[in-house]
Amino acid sequence: MKTIIEPFRIKAVEPIRLTSRQERGAILKAAHHNPFYLAARDVLIDLLTDSGTGAMSSEQWAGLMRGDESYAGSRSWERFEQAVKNVMGFKHVIPTHQGRAAERILFATMVKEGQVVPNNTHFDTTRANVEFIGGRAVDLVIPEGKRPEVVHPFKGNMDVAALQALIAEVGAEQVPLVMLTITNNSGGGQPVSMANIREVAGVAHQHDIPLYLDACRFAENAYFIKLREEGFGDKTPLEIAREMFALADGCTMSAKKDGLANIGGFLCTNDALLAQQEKNLLILTEGFPTYGGLAGRDLEAIAVGLEEVLDEDYLEYRLASIRYLGEHIARVGVPIVQPPGGHAIYIDARAMLPHIEPLQYPGQALVCELYLEAGIRSVEIGSVMFGRRDPDSGEELPAEMELVRLALPRRVYTQSHVDYVVEAIVNVFERRDAIRGMKMTWQAPVLRHFTAKFEPLTGAH
Ligand SMILES: *Cc1c(COP(=O)(O)O)cnc(C)c1O
Repeated sequence: MKTIIEPFRIKAVEPIRLTSRQERGAILKAAHHNPFYLAARDVLIDLLTDSGTGAMSSEQWAGLMRGDESYAGSRSWERFEQAVKNVMGFKHVIPTHQGRAAERILFATMVKEGQVVPNNTHFDTTRANVEFIGGRAVDLVIPEGKRPEVVHPFKGNMDVAALQALIAEVGAEQVPLVMLTITNNSGGGQPVSMANIREVAGVAHQHDIPLYLDACRFAENAYFIKLREEGFGDKTPLEIAREMFALADGCTMSAKKDGLANIGGFLCTNDALLAQQEKNLLILTEGFPTYGGLAGRDLEAIAVGLEEVLDEDYLEYRLASIRYLGEHIARVGVPIVQPPGGHAIYIDARAMLPHIEPLQYPGQALVCELYLEAGIRSVEIGSVMFGRRDPDSGEELPAEMELVRLALPRRVYTQSHVDYVVEAIVNVFERRDAIRGMKMTWQAPVLRHFTAKFEPLTGAH
């Protein structure tokens, strides 16, 4: 059979609510034209994020009942630790309430003020956590990774020559760790090849620098390797995942992504001394090392999720549904980051709305139009999220790309939902010349995209 189907049937349903265009206009205004201020009940199809928004399986729900809520040494902790070690293979596992807590503990333990952390592309919380400590977060994705229209099988790869040059420039002792984000979320959900992980590990280890994987979407990355990299076609996603992790010294993980859970995360390392320091910090801010801010039932859900996420039928359907969305809008000319990534489609708002200046936030304008058109919630990944002030002149600098991300929650929407999204995007695309930019009227000092307020610009451009 050629048709790829959702490899599950639906046991519980959650109604979603249609609103009128007029209602949505008023709602969007009250939400300051920022989708983070929208109430979920006012959203029909929620593609804000694939983080924590997935549907759990019947086995995971059963796991919730099995949850052992003992404070120390619960059976759920044992299952969780074993499930993590089974896939990731690291010696020490430290549970956290989500990915950024793992990042905060990792960087607080490893990074000193003024030091440099290279990554293919730092995710927003990763960058913020490096910078909060006083470190410098440097993005070293290959040049193809910054050009939305360029097709490359592993656009998330790190530029190895640039990594070598950076280490030579600042000195190896100023680089406490190298990170690789798999898949590269902020760069379009693009995968990193096994060959690249191996090369980056080689360079890092040559200088005695540990390599950490930001492993949020490790299973999607493993499946891309299976599909696209020579020599991996016959391996299982689990075998490929183990091979990726074996090249690294530790990882951070948000279980809200490829943990198929609604909350949770963890930090892994092979370094016993670091693990001890990390656990001390964990007790201070997250909880005892056998639960780390999670309920026993959450640990169960993650343990089951880590197994289910590596199921080939699931991964085939997962990547097929993203590709389906991408191909159907690209076909009519909507510019997207090519090729479609693992968890989301990214529309190139700069290419679609060339008449809107970067600092009039074309991505934010498109996000608002998609909500007005069809009640779809998406998110800007451009100058709102990554724009910054020049430290010397104080001038606002735009981001390298102006993208709008449509992230598909795992196991939540069916193909007809995706067809509806396709129709909405095509409608907006057809009237793109009439779309105007936005003005930011308020912003917070860090991670401003979550709470910034906007007003639409009116009049001719
Ligand atoms: C989501 C994410 C994080 C942070 O995880 P949270 O669970 O949201 O705190 C870090 N890195 C990447 C690549 C992510 O996608």
